[in-house]
This record gives sequence, structure tokens and C-alpha cells, in this order.
Amino acid sequence: MDLYSGHINKLIEELSALPGIGSKSAQRLAFHLINMPQDKVERLAASIIEAKKNVRYCKECYTLTDREICPVCANQNRNHKLIMVVENTRDLAAYEKTGKYEGVYHVLHGAISPMLGIGPGEIKLKELMERLQEEVEEVIIATNSSLEGETTAMYAAKLIKPLGVKVTRIASGVPVGGDLEYIDEVTLFRALEGRTEL
Ligand code: ZN
Repeated sequence: MDLYSGHINKLIEELSALPGIGSKSAQRLAFHLINMPQDKVERLAASIIEAKKNVRYCKECYTLTDREICPVCANQNRNHKLIMVVENTRDLAAYEKTGKYEGVYHVLHGAISPMLGIGPGEIKLKELMERLQEEVEEVIIATNSSLEGETTAMYAAKLIKPLGVKVTRIASGVPVGGDLEYIDEVTLFRALEGRTEL
């Protein structure tokens, strides 16, 4: 027997397809949304659509931004010869929060995972190599310390080193399998300071 109307079921189904939302949370959110004032629901729906329409990849570092060039890449006071490679925009945001990093970034949008069938061609690695045609002094690989992150780091280092560019890896003070965005700023800064050459 269907407990809810088709509309509610549809909403629960859509919400539970989101990462980290189980069926219980999806039900809770669905009822919360239905009980919200009409104008608030419309604002929420519009902000999702607007974000989807206007957010794109930065032409240089591939982070998500609503400009052609993101604020970090556009900042001439940053060191454009120092590139930190991260898995996603959330990791970039975590490093920016430390306020101590003066270089620029490159966002891969994933990591190599033979198990999930994600190869080097599925992430923005080719785009990184293209950036290295310009003068770059150091590439800091700050992918997660998960199996996928380590695989990606090794693979990228192998590609970059023959170009004569210094390649470093953040220190392993970062807990294994730990998502960078959940690590506090002090730990992140230490990991960056303690980086070693690959
Ligand atoms: Zn950028």
C-alpha cells in the first residue's frame, strides 16, 4: 500500500538520490519542504536552477565559479607558478580557508579509480598538463590520502616529472581516507608545509 501521494513519493525519490541522503532523511526533508511557505520553496527551487545555469568551470583551474576566470586565478598577487592539485572545489575551499596558501589551484573533479572504472581521461589531468606548458615551478599534489588519491598522485607525478617541473605531495598528516574538507585548518597547513618531493 502506498502511504503517501504520488507527488510526495516522487519528491522523496529525487531527494534520496542525492549523496548522503538516506530514505529516512529524504522523507524528513520532503515533509519539511511541503510544510515550508510557498515563497521560500520557490526561492530554494530558483536558487538550484540559477546555480545550475550559471556555474561553470574556471577556464584556468577548472574550479566551479560563475565567472570565466575564478577569483583566485584572476588575482595577480597569487603565485601563478605554484599549482596545487586538488580533487574537487570543496578541497580548494578548505585550503583557501587556511589563508596561508599563496599559489593557484587545479581541480581534477575526481580521482583515478580502477574499481569504479574512472581512468585518467575522466578527470581534468590533460588540462593540468596543458597548463604546464607555461612556466610553472612546482606542482603540489594534494589529492586525498585514499587509495584513489594516492593512485592519482603517483600517476600525475609520473606525467609531470619528465617536464622538469618539481612535484611535491602534501604530508601524510592527513588521516588515511580522510576527506580534505573535514580536516581542520591547522592540520591542512601542516600537511602543506611538510610536503615532500616525489
Ligand atoms: Zn581558477
